[in-house]
Amino acid sequence: MNPLASLSLHCPACDNRYALHDLAWRCTDCHGVLELSGFAPTFPSPADLSHRPPTLWRYAEALPLAEPTAITLGEGMTPLVTAPGRSDVRLKVDYLMPTGSFKDRGAVLLAALADKLSAGRMVADSSGNAGTAIAAYAARAGIPCEVYVPQSTSAGKVAQLRAYGAAVHQIPGSREDTADAAAEAADVPGTLYASHVYNPFFFHGTKTYVFELWEQLGGRLPHTLVLPVGNGTLVLGAHLGSRELLAAGLIDRLPRIVAVQAATCAPLATAFQAGHAEPAQITPEPTLAEGIAIARPARGAQILAAIRATGGVITTVTDAQVSASHAALARAGLYVEPTGAACWAALSAGLVAEPETPRDPAVPFAVAPLCGSGLKSKPPHS
Ligand SMILES: *Cc1c(COP(=O)(O)O)cnc(C)c1O
Ligand SMILES: [Zn+2]
Repeated sequence: MNPLASLSLHCPACDNRYALHDLAWRCTDCHGVLELSGFAPTFPSPADLSHRPPTLWRYAEALPLAEPTAITLGEGMTPLVTAPGRSDVRLKVDYLMPTGSFKDRGAVLLAALADKLSAGRMVADSSGNAGTAIAAYAARAGIPCEVYVPQSTSAGKVAQLRAYGAAVHQIPGSREDTADAAAEAADVPGTLYASHVYNPFFFHGTKTYVFELWEQLGGRLPHTLVLPVGNGTLVLGAHLGSRELLAAGLIDRLPRIVAVQAATCAPLATAFQAGHAEPAQITPEPTLAEGIAIARPARGAQILAAIRATGGVITTVTDAQVSASHAALARAGLYVEPTGAACWAALSAGLVAEPETPRDPAVPFAVAPLCGSGLKSKPPHS
């Protein structure tokens, strides 16, 4: 943990710097994404960890904000269970987070940040889970929150947002139209744009996914992390967390990231296969996996570079595969939203290659998250 005053936001393209109090959400010159600077994370010792509560705040030294004791909902340390019929694969049950998705890992940091900076208002945009997470933590922090969602967002998710007291703006058109409306609202002075895509604090929250895994696997990471990718908040967080573990000497190689997109909305998989550095220009078609249907990921180039740096790949799954995996998981007692079945679909379809080198039999070869709860989504066959 560093004092807040030593932290700033930095545009890698222009070298511009912004004080946190400026509430900048992207570079004012190039409109590029900003990174956190002035932060030197360290990893707590096993002795320290042994007596800390099972929340993501147990990694205090590795987080850029102190535990917000009045805001936390006890998020973190979700179960790791054996995959149905595959003893070499584990599933991390992130749908057991306080608002039902892994987005709580990042949202709690953004609410804590808004609180520290005395922001009068938080604005979020999301096809659902990021918005509900931000709305819940804003409510907990007592900060007014406005959430922009596409018109097509499920009634269950909208009801959850309104229950948290957020003002919900349903925007007709594409997912990108929603992001544009939120960006406009975010430019109002005194507003923290609590964007899971732009705000780098979010990734310092999602990185705890791998810290927990490392602890749960006895101080090791699996060979392969299978992760969904839309805007890349879990992929980039997992990559960041893995790099921090490597820098701390706690692992000896980065886990390979196999990222999964929906076949009908795959700008990253398309670019990856073509060897391109920037996401492909695509025309998205509808998919059951609405949580990863992101046609223009703002951190696309960063995601492609991160996955390549791990020796990983980006693959795609069809709606038929998602639907079958969704049903199979439920039959095994795991009720996820359709998007939450995408990684298991890739594993089940044999799209995640086993490592050629011998590996430690005590460590599962792959871990995939179950990202979102089935309880708030529309069922795939309704
Ligand atoms: C947010 C989310 C994803 C994808 O995360 P990105 O940050 O867009 O890559 C996947 N599944 C679920 C359930 C989500 O809520
Ligand atoms: Zn810039």
